[in-house]
Amino acid sequence: MIGQDIQKAADLLKKGDLVAIPTETVYGLAANALDTAAVARIFEAKDRPSFDPLIIHTDRIEKIKPFVKSIPEKLQVLIDAFSPGPLTILLEKEATIPDLVTAGLPTVAVRIPAHPMSKKLLESLDFPLAAPSANPFGYISPTRAKHVEDQLGDKVSYILDGGNCDFGVESTIVKLTENGSVQVLRKGGLSVEALEEVAGVVEVNDVSSSNPNAPGMLKSHYAPKTPIYVGEMNSAVKKLKGKRIAFIGFNMLNFSLPVEDQFLLSMNFDLKEAASNLFAVMRQLDKSKKYEVIVTDWFPEEGLGRAINDRLRRASSSF
Ligand code: AMP
Ligand code: MG
Repeated sequence: MIGQDIQKAADLLKKGDLVAIPTETVYGLAANALDTAAVARIFEAKDRPSFDPLIIHTDRIEKIKPFVKSIPEKLQVLIDAFSPGPLTILLEKEATIPDLVTAGLPTVAVRIPAHPMSKKLLESLDFPLAAPSANPFGYISPTRAKHVEDQLGDKVSYILDGGNCDFGVESTIVKLTENGSVQVLRKGGLSVEALEEVAGVVEVNDVSSSNPNAPGMLKSHYAPKTPIYVGEMNSAVKKLKGKRIAFIGFNMLNFSLPVEDQFLLSMNFDLKEAASNLFAVMRQLDKSKKYEVIVTDWFPEEGLGRAINDRLRRASSSF
């Protein structure tokens, strides 16, 4: 059921139910992070391998302090600068955070979402919420309440409808390395440039990991069902001759395809707008079942373009 009743969402979460919540990145599938049985329901609903660690959400970092060993100064500075927002930090956890949440890892991922609805919801709770993206494992993340209803409608007690997600790509995950520098583990809604303005030079983990502890960093993830080809259009059309092609572009139509098969992400040449439309367009194309392959080209490798390219890299198939 979809609705906007925050009190109802809170009541359901208190009794251990699953509720889908809007955030400014993507919709999350939330449960009480301190209730192992409730967290187990998340994995069940998503069909997600239980070794995948979840991000916990709160409205104030002070509320997390009892559950973590400490908050290093450098990460506190980032929280002050970018939270609430699309920033996730890794902190050494206390035993009170169930191992199921962190997949047995000694660290827990923490985020303070900025969406006003989830903010209000979190303020009314005295426990953090564990929430992965509200999609079946491996598929692209939901950026509209309807996306959640289509795929997980029968598995959640309630879907809190907060409209379209602002960023449309997941949060940027950072950690402090052993030598004390800030490292980006997953590029996301907070750009590397913005981080560097506050933290100085940061390390960026560009190698997609095959580490099963971190599927959000897996080489193949966030993929639509229709295969994606990323590259220059003319060579793509040659390579994919005879196939029904849809084109996802930034702001320019392509002359090699009929206009009705082309989907532009931002007429204003705005990377943030493009990111927020990307997953919705992929879904729409999957749903239409009209196309055998989606062709797109790399976006400018700056700001949110880096997160878009990262998702495209992982969604793309080899041809
Ligand atoms: P999401 O799909 O946005 O909920 O992001 C979950 C992803 O965050 C996981 O797949 C991991 O890649 C990453 N993550 C969560 N917790 C940790 C952790 N403790 N250590 C490393 N990565 C983590
Ligand atoms: Mg996810």
